[in-house]
Amino acid sequence: MILFAVYAVVVWWMAMRHRRTLAGFAIAALCALPVLLAARYVPVLGVIGYGSAAPRTPGRGMEGLQILLFAEAVVVAGVALFIVCLPRPPSGRHCGYCWYDLSGLDPDTDVCPECGTPRTGYARPGAGPKVQGSNTHRSNQGTAL
Ligand SMILES: [Zn+2]
Repeated sequence: MILFAVYAVVVWWMAMRHRRTLAGFAIAALCALPVLLAARYVPVLGVIGYGSAAPRTPGRGMEGLQILLFAEAVVVAGVALFIVCLPRPPSGRHCGYCWYDLSGLDPDTDVCPECGTPRTGYARPGAGPKVQGSNTHRSNQGTAL
């Protein structure tokens, strides 16, 4: 059972690494395949008596595990597709608070034009932008002038 969670975490991590790329969509499309193949061949485990010491007829008693595997395939593929569709973080210069793309701006600009956060901004969730007249910002202006 722990393999269900491990497989899901590995697939979702790979989907996160390859967001909005062809490889990411391939991962999302193909990640259900191994689980579905496992579900297909679970009745073979019933033949060799997996899960019980009593002799079994092929496939009997393994329907529950097959249902779990089908559910695992649907959940893993669905969440992987959702993760792949998430936007990638900006690769160039960006505001540390609002993630506004600063790549086309003057390099000497020290304030985000979108939210007013100084260039030494931060990305803490729930925290507001820094005050313009903070000590750090003021001392930087003093040295620039
Ligand atoms: Zn900003």
